[in-house]
Amino acid sequence: MFEPCECGSGKSYVGCCGRLHGGAPARDAEELMRSRYCAFSRGNTGYLLKSWAAETRPLALTLDPAQQWTGLTIHRHEATGPYTARVRFTATWRLGNRTGRLSETSNFRRDGEGWVYIDGMTG
Ligand SMILES: [Zn+2]
Repeated sequence: MFEPCECGSGKSYVGCCGRLHGGAPARDAEELMRSRYCAFSRGNTGYLLKSWAAETRPLALTLDPAQQWTGLTIHRHEATGPYTARVRFTATWRLGNRTGRLSETSNFRRDGEGWVYIDGMTG
């Protein structure tokens, strides 16, 4: 059965963010960003913490299971240095009958084979 990936890539979950959630390294910051959005959508806090840079990672993460993530748009993905990149995106959500959007510019760093999320600025 084809299960489309929540990140909106048009690929199957297994062939997209599922690979990263299973331990495969992200090839670039955008791929990591997509896999983190997908992890938010699936409530996969273990992956969110694992893909967070050690110096900015929270000790624990609690997600509101009533908040549903309904879409991701990547606006820009650019290198900011040899091992760093920035991704600008908008994610939309629904909570009960309220909807909203989160726009953020996130910073990422190459870490070993993959990438990690450092921090972000919303707005
Ligand atoms: Zn995906």
